This record gives sequence, structure tokens and C-alpha cells, in this order.
Amino acid sequence: MKKNTISIRNLNDLINSIQNHANEVCKTQLSGNPGVAYPQKSLREEISNNIERVEQNCHNFSCYPADMTDSSYRAYLWLVFLSKEHNLEQHLAFLHHFLERWKAESRKAVSVDLYNSAMVFQCKSSRQNTHVTLNEGFIKSTPAEVETLLACCLHSTQKNLGELRSISRAASYQRIMAAMWQHTPQSSMSTKGEYYDLLSLFHAINRDYFHGTMKAPRLRWGGKKATRRLGYYHPDSDTITISPFLDQRSIPSYVMEYVLYHEMLHKKLGLKEVNSYRIAHTAQFKQLEHNFNAYQDAEAFLKSLQKR
Ligand SMILES: [Zn+2]
Repeated sequence: MKKNTISIRNLNDLINSIQNHANEVCKTQLSGNPGVAYPQKSLREEISNNIERVEQNCHNFSCYPADMTDSSYRAYLWLVFLSKEHNLEQHLAFLHHFLERWKAESRKAVSVDLYNSAMVFQCKSSRQNTHVTLNEGFIKSTPAEVETLLACCLHSTQKNLGELRSISRAASYQRIMAAMWQHTPQSSMSTKGEYYDLLSLFHAINRDYFHGTMKAPRLRWGGKKATRRLGYYHPDSDTITISPFLDQRSIPSYVMEYVLYHEMLHKKLGLKEVNSYRIAHTAQFKQLEHNFNAYQDAEAFLKSLQKR
């Protein structure tokens, strides 16, 4: 597969800088010493300057932000999200509240990455300090939910982690995700493989099986040539990832299309929750899968792959 995506230069420096400055804004507020505060205005400028830089760069390459690598696109959407005044206010208010509660509960130093992260939650602790990664989706947490997050950091139990998972599936978290993952268009720069173009396949399947009604998710080729997991739909980021293993001459087009159709069905049907387990391949799902023209042949081909 051709590697033809672009990325943001010094991506980690950019993210770290904004995280640090957001932490600084909150920590100086908490220390009651506003004289040295990193001004919120500078943070806003830093965010908008970076958005401009990314968009200009994409423009120079005649592509869109959604064509960038996954990590760069994540960062870009995060910046756009924070560039809206009320989102940045919410971000800082949450961070402030979390740090305030932390200070009351623990003597350890803490640094918080509050980000459009691929992870929901992570907490790494050493003897001196703790590093917490929280998904941006948590910024509208209620005070009780912040206590749950804190509990997961300070004395994580299965029960605490279960509650955290419920928060991440609840409506307010999902609304933040939906607001963040407002996809920009995509060009074939990132969807075109050597043999197959995910974007044109998507349009054909959308026309043939969904009356052209499905809004395009983000389509990307995965990083590894996975032969077991050939496709994956991630609902939070509305992204279909396809294994580059399928992008070769020996894979018939009906197999490639079938895998994409399967993932599009996931987008259409969502996940059904039963006793806090989420079920994807429901009876309805399997029934719709049978609508695919070459269903039998595609299934047989996929089975033969697994045996190899
Ligand atoms: Zn599936």
C-alpha cells in the first residue's frame, strides 16, 4: 500500500504545549497567585494559530485535514473543538475542578492530559507523581462523576472502573464526542490504496444498499496488515478502518466490498447494550448482512483466509 498521508510537524510538542498551558492557567488560579498566570488569551491565540497552520499545510498539498494521519487528525479536531469559546471554558473549568479535588485528596504532584485521546482513561503513578490521561469527552462530568474519575486514579477497583465506563457511554460524553468528530471532507489522497479506493467503494455501496443515505464516516487504511481483523468501525470517532491486507490483487473486489459493507452496517445499526455488554452482531445485523449480493462467495473466501 502506498503511504500517502501527511501529518502535523512536531505534533507532540504542539499538544504538550497546549496541555501545559491549560494546566498552568488552572494551577495559577488554584494557587491564588494570578499575577503570574499564563493568560487565557494567549492559549486561544496558540490554538487558532495552529489551526491556521494545519489548514494552510493541507491546502498546499491539495487535501483536507481528514486526509492526515490518525494522530494528526485527532489533534486537529481537538484544536477546532477548543477554538470555540464555550468548549475551552468547559475544558478549563473541568480541569480546574479536577485539579482542585486532586489537591484536596492527594499530596502527590499530578499532570493531566485532557485530550481527544484514543484512550478513555489512563493513570500512571510513580512514587513522586501521577500522570493522568482523560478523554476530552469527560469535560461535562457532574461533580459526582469527577469523584469517580478521582477514585479511579487514587484507588482503582473494578467497581470504579465499571462506573467510569458507564460515564463514557452516557449521553453527555457522547455529545462531546459527536461535537469533536465533525468530519472534514476527505480526498482520495488518503483513501486510495494500490488496488482499491475506499472512498469510491463507499459511495457505490451506499448507493446500492443504503439508498445513498449514509453520511460518509472517515475511511482509513489501518497501519498493520492484519489478516484476522480486516475491518473495524469505531463509533466515537465515526471511523472505518480497513486492513491494508485487503488492498492486493489476489483479493476479489466482492470480498473487499463485503468487508466494507459489514463495517457500514455497524455504523448504521450501532451497538445494542444488554446487561452492560455491548452486542454488535445482532440477529438484525446478520439478516442485513445476507442482503449483500455475493454474500455466500465472500463468506467462503473469508473462511478460506482464516484457514491459511
Ligand atoms: Zn463486525
